[in-house]
Amino acid sequence: MAGEFLRFLAQKRLCFHCHEPMKPTPVRKKRNGDYDKGWTREHIVPKSKGGRKGDNIVLAHYKCNQERGNVDPTLEMIERAKVINAIASEI
Ligand SMILES: [Zn+2]
Repeated sequence: MAGEFLRFLAQKRLCFHCHEPMKPTPVRKKRNGDYDKGWTREHIVPKSKGGRKGDNIVLAHYKCNQERGNVDPTLEMIERAKVINAIASEI
């Protein structure tokens, strides 16, 4: 199973959802209560719907992860996550 930093590289440092850059560190809460641009682990099939680890994990901004919430993934999202995890496992 690929680690987060390998996923980060495989995603070319871009958020899975908004395609904007992420910081190379886990998300941190700022003093003003906002979250920085660090990554969070995003479950493609939501945890609440039985999604587990492995190919199901990608990285996304905190805000983007929250906005998606528990929505079922599209086929495109599932395929994109597989590609990211395949690349991450070969780095
Ligand atoms: Zn984002």
